[in-house]
Amino acid sequence: MTTTALITGANKGIGFEIARLLGERGVTAIVGARDEERGRAAAERIGQPYVRLDVTDADSVQAAAKWIEQEYGKLDILVNNAGVMVWAEDPRPSATSADELRQVYETNVFGVVTVTNAMLPLLRRAEAARIVNMSSELGSLSMVMDPDSRLWERNLMAYNSSKSALNMITISYAKELWDTSIKVNAVTPGYCATDLNGHSGHRTPEQGATIAVRMATLDADGPTGAFLDEDGPLTW
Ligand code: NAP
Repeated sequence: MTTTALITGANKGIGFEIARLLGERGVTAIVGARDEERGRAAAERIGQPYVRLDVTDADSVQAAAKWIEQEYGKLDILVNNAGVMVWAEDPRPSATSADELRQVYETNVFGVVTVTNAMLPLLRRAEAARIVNMSSELGSLSMVMDPDSRLWERNLMAYNSSKSALNMITISYAKELWDTSIKVNAVTPGYCATDLNGHSGHRTPEQGATIAVRMATLDADGPTGAFLDEDGPLTW
């Protein structure tokens, strides 16, 4: 039977690599992207299907769920990868507006909930579905509070708090689905060179994708409600 995955924000960066690597493992990796032209071009490059999906637009998410139901009847893997970071001239929390937080949360937090709730009926139809949320080390309260860490300096309130919220959202879904075969985990790709950070990261998007792929294809004895990078579990 076909294993089907939906990856949000898969037209470029880490999401594209997740779709490509899942495809290499025989998964039908649906490239979810908000821009039709760029989404279709990315999907064609890896020979995978495309679906238009803007995570901040509930109608587009519902339409994507309907299309997946018609085409595949179920969904085995959901990777909530789409994410944004807003670059402000003055990034200090005291100079960060609530509107900036709302803008980031629309995609990184509310978008994940919109997509997950829309896809859950399809995920429940799969034998053992996996949900992977693309978080960040910057969402870890313990890691950003370590004065010796490179993360200490990166005090980006909107982005960092959106990923902390995403971590709690991951746990919340994992707990609701605890007694089912569905596993829900948060992963961090490490600091990867993508458009998100002006290509300043020291890792490749492919390296960043590997932990998401691993958690998307997890065995029945794997964790749920965990936060991991490619070396293993992280502190929240
Ligand atoms: P990227 O290259 O900027 O890719 C982000 C993707 O998200 C793009 O495909 C973008 O689409 C999509 N997206 C943004 N808003 C969307 C929306 N409303 N609906 C649908 N898609 C949307 O960044 P990336 O580094 O690969 O980031 C992927 C994920 O990894 C993000 O969640 C990010 O927070 C996380 N992450 C990245 C790093 C890193 O070092 N790069 C580290 C930790 C975590 P468009 O092309 O249309 O904008």
